[in-house]
Amino acid sequence: MSKYMTKQRKILLQFLSEHADESLFAEQIALALKEEGISVSAIYRNLADLEKEGKVRRTSKDGSRKVFFQYIGGEECRACIHLSCKKCGKTYHMDMSEADILIHHVAKQEKFAVDRSQTVLYGICGDCQDHERRND
Ligand SMILES: [Zn+2]
Ligand SMILES: [Zn+2]
Repeated sequence: MSKYMTKQRKILLQFLSEHADESLFAEQIALALKEEGISVSAIYRNLADLEKEGKVRRTSKDGSRKVFFQYIGGEECRACIHLSCKKCGKTYHMDMSEADILIHHVAKQEKFAVDRSQTVLYGICGDCQDHERRND
């Protein structure tokens, strides 16, 4: 990896970690980092690398081909189970003690050791449920 790439990657990681648990479009990231002189293709390339390394997660909304990227490489994220909303694409942290109960349960009942840093539950978030109810 060239020095140039490493620098781009650093800037990208820095930006993503400042916006941890926010879902960002690649174009949004590119726009924010335009002043740093990072090209859109470099952003995509680095995002793909970071995704492979498990530092970034790719999500999308239901019925949309638009993809979001989200930084999940922080300390907090490694210890959390993530809840991913299929409607708005947002990701939330499951309450730690609730996650503990769930993991404990699965370990006991299924004899399965859950890796919480890799675990995402998909569904509809509270905000989107409220929204749906209001629109009924
Ligand atoms: Zn997180
Ligand atoms: Zn939602």
